[in-house]
Amino acid sequence: MFDYQAPADLLKERVILVTGAGDGIGRAAALSFAGHGATVILLGRTISKLEKVYDDIEAAGGPQPAIVPLNLEGATAQDYASVADSIDENFGRLDGLLHNASIIGQRTPLAQFEPAVWQQVMQVNLTAPFLLTQAMIPLLRQSKDASVIFTSSSVGRKAKAYWGAYAVSKFGTEGLMQLTADELDEPSYSIRANSVNPGATRTSMRAFAYPAENPSDNPAPEDIMPVYLYLMGPDSKGVTGQAFDAQSRPPKAPTP
Ligand code: NAP
Repeated sequence: MFDYQAPADLLKERVILVTGAGDGIGRAAALSFAGHGATVILLGRTISKLEKVYDDIEAAGGPQPAIVPLNLEGATAQDYASVADSIDENFGRLDGLLHNASIIGQRTPLAQFEPAVWQQVMQVNLTAPFLLTQAMIPLLRQSKDASVIFTSSSVGRKAKAYWGAYAVSKFGTEGLMQLTADELDEPSYSIRANSVNPGATRTSMRAFAYPAENPSDNPAPEDIMPVYLYLMGPDSKGVTGQAFDAQSRPPKAPTP
């Protein structure tokens, strides 16, 4: 696991937006960021799940979060502008942005891959993070120390057969991260952008991709939070344009 011990007040007074905050890794990140003092903006498409995370944050004594219902599949540039306006009105800035929401689509050979599914995966996994980043740039520039995290995958760094649009969208995500890091590395602002590959993690997405696997073989989303906390907090200031792994495993023992 990425080795980082976060102080309890690491994210105090930071405002952080998390996409796909209702489930899986996004839910764990929202709870963890709030648990370290951040005001978290919970963005997602299933309001009941976002409300449950909201209640869990309040019950744990975290700062009052905010909910932004948005389906990234159909969202337009105007929708993103409205999200930006509402954050501007309520907080005046954004200190952290975690692009986490994604879908797998199909795991199918390219020869049979449905073009409509290809478009859908590209829309949610790649175009939405572009549009959201674009809309958030003015708010990130209002922060004294802003961090953008893009969520990648092993197949976004080395493609594997049948991972189709998902793999290609994650390669695109790495490119979008590098572009964002390079463009926003401006002397007058402090904005960094990096990517995280969570590695095999016990969520609905993982269960869908690997139905035969025993879920308890993989770490829970809560276990992979150190790298997310490191990148969201001040200890990663100046670190930008880099690809991180949430889990680093010791080398496997040789098989006899
Ligand atoms: P998950 O359990 O399926 O959660 C995905 C979240 O994204 C859910 O909250 C989902 O909302 C939301 N979402 C999906 N489509 C959306 C849309 N159109 N609009 C708004 N929200 C949407 O997945 P996860 O395993 O936590 O994955 C989180 C990230 O880690 C993803 O980027 C994934 O590619 C990456 N990742 C995961 C693993 C792993 O082993 N789990 C490995 C490598 C990379 P609903 O709850 O409403 O469906």
